[in-house]
Amino acid sequence: MNTTDSVSSLALDCVRQLVPYVPGKPIEELERELGISNIIKLASNENPLGPGKKALAAIQSALPLLTLYPDGNGFNLKSALAKKYSLHTDQITLGNGSNELLELVARAFLAPGLEAIFSEHAFAVYPIVTQAVGATPIVVPALNYGNDLEAMAAWITAKTRVVFIANPNNPTGTLLRQTDLDKFIAGLPSHCLCLLDEAYFEFVGSQAEINSLDWLKIHPNLIITRTFSKAYGLAGLRMGYSLSSPEIADILNRVRQPFNNNSLALAAAEAALSDDEYLQQTIAVNNQGMSDLTAGFESLGLEWIPSAGNFIAVDLKRPGQPVYEALLRLGVIVRPIANYGMPNHLRISIGTQAENQFFLKALEKTLANV
Ligand SMILES: *Cc1c(COP(=O)(O)O)cnc(C)c1O
Repeated sequence: MNTTDSVSSLALDCVRQLVPYVPGKPIEELERELGISNIIKLASNENPLGPGKKALAAIQSALPLLTLYPDGNGFNLKSALAKKYSLHTDQITLGNGSNELLELVARAFLAPGLEAIFSEHAFAVYPIVTQAVGATPIVVPALNYGNDLEAMAAWITAKTRVVFIANPNNPTGTLLRQTDLDKFIAGLPSHCLCLLDEAYFEFVGSQAEINSLDWLKIHPNLIITRTFSKAYGLAGLRMGYSLSSPEIADILNRVRQPFNNNSLALAAAEAALSDDEYLQQTIAVNNQGMSDLTAGFESLGLEWIPSAGNFIAVDLKRPGQPVYEALLRLGVIVRPIANYGMPNHLRISIGTQAENQFFLKALEKTLANV
């Protein structure tokens, strides 16, 4: 056995057929390629404010503990989350980013012969975790770029184990009405879990008329995932969590690594959770940025998909890839989303006021030349 080909043929078919996740381009990579600095990245829905002071201070204090294994049960962080959300700690599972929770759910509940349902234009990790365990992805056509709950319900069969729903959805930013979600979850058969991915829930605010956590009291088959990567500004530390029935948390706990969260992430997340000022500032900057960007799109004659997240998909009415590449040359990294079935859109993460203005100028210049 001496070629890479023959070795890779040993991998499971379902893994060989996987298309890897394409992340946003890192700033350092573009710096290396173009030899320029002052690059702005509006490509991965990160918090433009940088990490909060409380989180940074907690990391400093935790540094001397780095020789020790972290608390594998995340007692302090789970206690803080349980208190904040009025839940029990046995309903919480911590993950290396909420991404890991998606993977744990797939590993625990999906297998060849079983099906997972998600929408067209849904988060790219759902097909990956589904296919990685040999289960069958069922992709349901979107309704106005969002989850079509009625159509998704109609696709449920005896083989369905998980329905993945991001609310708001990434990359489209579409928001479902909580009353519609409520009805959908209540109507699920008992052999079928709902994974409600709320990575952006902090940005939704008063647009959500029902608290989704209330559903946990009545639906043992509901898993809600949230993250410290977006509104809490800690994407680099990898910390997310799920809220569910204790039964599901117990199952997820069996398949996770014993020390899946590092000690700096645990300490920082706990501190970040109490940093209301940072969170409020984040939301204010996002709201202002959202209106600045949409005003900018309007004056450029562009349409966009109304977004409840910290990003927005703009419709260029022409292929996005050349525009993306031209923006790179001007030092702006955004996200092409052709791989989400949206070749004419670009997804822009909301930045600081200065970043948003820089981007809009670069976009204007680019559209005039490309
Ligand atoms: C960013 C994102 C996540 C997860 O991010 P983590 O950094 O792994 O917590 C999950 N779902 C959606 C829809 C996202 O956009």
